[in-house]
Amino acid sequence: MKILKAMLGVTAAAAISLLAYTASAQTYPERTITMVVPFAAGGPTDTVARLVAESMSKDLGQQIVVENVGGAGGTLGAGRVASSDPDGYTILLHHIGMATSATLYRKLAYDTLNAFEYVGLVTDVPMTIVARKDFEPADLKGLVEYVKANKDKVTVANAGIGAASHLCGMMFMSAIQTPLTTVPYKGTGPAMTDLLGGQVDIMCDQTTNTTKQIQGGTIKAYAVTSPARLDVLKDIPTAVEAGLPGFEVGIWHGIYTPKGTPAEINERLSKSLQIALKDPNVAARFAELGTAPSSEADATPAALKAKLESEIARWKPVIEAAGEYAD
Ligand code: ASP
Repeated sequence: MKILKAMLGVTAAAAISLLAYTASAQTYPERTITMVVPFAAGGPTDTVARLVAESMSKDLGQQIVVENVGGAGGTLGAGRVASSDPDGYTILLHHIGMATSATLYRKLAYDTLNAFEYVGLVTDVPMTIVARKDFEPADLKGLVEYVKANKDKVTVANAGIGAASHLCGMMFMSAIQTPLTTVPYKGTGPAMTDLLGGQVDIMCDQTTNTTKQIQGGTIKAYAVTSPARLDVLKDIPTAVEAGLPGFEVGIWHGIYTPKGTPAEINERLSKSLQIALKDPNVAARFAELGTAPSSEADATPAALKAKLESEIARWKPVIEAAGEYAD
């Protein structure tokens, strides 16, 4: 009887909070929203998040404040949102790492496919293979030869296991069949600082972090991972063109809410995301950084859910075959 009463108590409490969330969905948002970015400030995910958050804030009539919760390849920030109240006031902007970390981490604090609701896709960003400015090799072919000959001293920066830079770095090492020493950071913002300072040698990172540095000549670029050359980096060959067959990867980004967030709130955020992605300022900044906003059809809960599911399925066998896990 006691157990039954306790269970009823819990169920009643859950029902009351569900009613409260549903009621508040009609007046949402009434206060500041926190957008968690699971990497350090100043990096590419942060850049995308701040641009989109600023524009969405205008439509929502409430500020979206970006909070950087870096560490463990993006899984700390995702975990933080997974355990937040499902009231629409804590949301997550994450990238492809949401899918790869579901397999890379065998002991994740959250169950990726059951811990979130979906708002929509944001953008798909190419990666670049870059190095410190004074790194010797002149082109990708030279880089591969140099790295193979100096594998004990070349260092590769990344944002931890599960990060896009980690994934792209692993693809590079696997393509040239040469393991290298990796140096993890809480995001590629701080990793870029060390690349500029010459403390690390190479990095694979989104164009949203590297384009301005490449154009300014402060780092060296060997390749872009898009299927075709980019307008903003016309002189940089694709990795395939430069000699790495099949080396193509796009870093898709999405916005999530904690599981249980009312559908009306996810829809409201999705509408606001769609408006932000059509904001000429957002589109122009994305173009300058070598990327483009997702389409209206992709900036929807259903499209992001389908993308996450298919990407988990795509990367799972690849990671299992590599047999390298974070834990
Ligand atoms: N570019 C990083 C990554 O490797 C993340 C970041 O700092 O935004 O996933």
